[in-house]
Amino acid sequence: MNSLPHVIILLGAPGSGKGTQAALIQERLHLPHISTGDILRNQIKQKTDLGKQAKECIDQGHLVPDPLILDMVFKRLSEPDCAKGYILDGVPRTIPQAEALDTFFTSSPLIINFSLPKELILERLSLRISCSQCGQPYHRLYSPPKQPEVCDRCQGPLIQRPDDSQEVILKRLEIYSLQTEPLLKFYSERHRFYTIDCSQKNKEQIYTELVSFF
Ligand code: AMP
Repeated sequence: MNSLPHVIILLGAPGSGKGTQAALIQERLHLPHISTGDILRNQIKQKTDLGKQAKECIDQGHLVPDPLILDMVFKRLSEPDCAKGYILDGVPRTIPQAEALDTFFTSSPLIINFSLPKELILERLSLRISCSQCGQPYHRLYSPPKQPEVCDRCQGPLIQRPDDSQEVILKRLEIYSLQTEPLLKFYSERHRFYTIDCSQKNKEQIYTELVSFF
C-alpha cells in the first residue's frame, strides 16, 4: 500500500456511484466528503442567494457557473476539517474548475474515474432515491435502505431527486460528455489516475478495487 492519499477526486457521470463510494471511503480515511451537489441542494433548501441561482441551473440539468462553484468550494476547503485532506465528489466538472483546483492543492491528488455505460446510468438514476437530509444515495433494487423510504445513516426521509427525471438525466449526460469528460485526459496527463469499470460490479467489488489504489 502507498501512503494514504490526502486529496481524492471521484470522477464519473451522474449515477456512476461516486457518492456511494465517497461515503464508504470517508469512514475508512477519516476525511470529509465534499459533494458540491449536496452543498448546492442545502443552499436551495435554505433559500440563499447562491441557492436561488443554482436551482435554475440544477432543475434544467445545466452546470452552475464556474465562478459560483469555485467560490463555494474554496470556502468549504478552507474550513478546519479539510486541513488534512478531503474527498471531492462532483467537482471539478469543467476544465477551468480543474485548473483552479490544481493551483489550490498542496499535495498531488489521486483521481478515480467510475466508468459505466449510458444505458446502465439511465436505469440506475431512474431507480435512485436519496436522503433529503444528508444526500446519501440508495437504489430501489440494488442498494435499498434497511427500512423502506428511511435513510440508514441519519433516519431522514428518502426522495427521488427532481433532476433524476428522464428528461433532465439526458441533459445532464450530454453536458457530462461535453464539459466533464475532457477531465479524464487532463488528469491522466498530470496526476495518479485510475479508471474502474463499474458495469459488472456491485458496490462491494467497486470498493475493493477503489481501496487497492491507496
Ligand atoms: P450532483 O449531485 O453532483 O449530481 O449535482 C447536481 C447538480 O448540481 C448538477 O447537475 C449541477 O447542476 C450542479 N453541480 C454540482 N456540482 C457542480 C460543479 N462542480 N459544477 C457545476 N455545477 C455543479
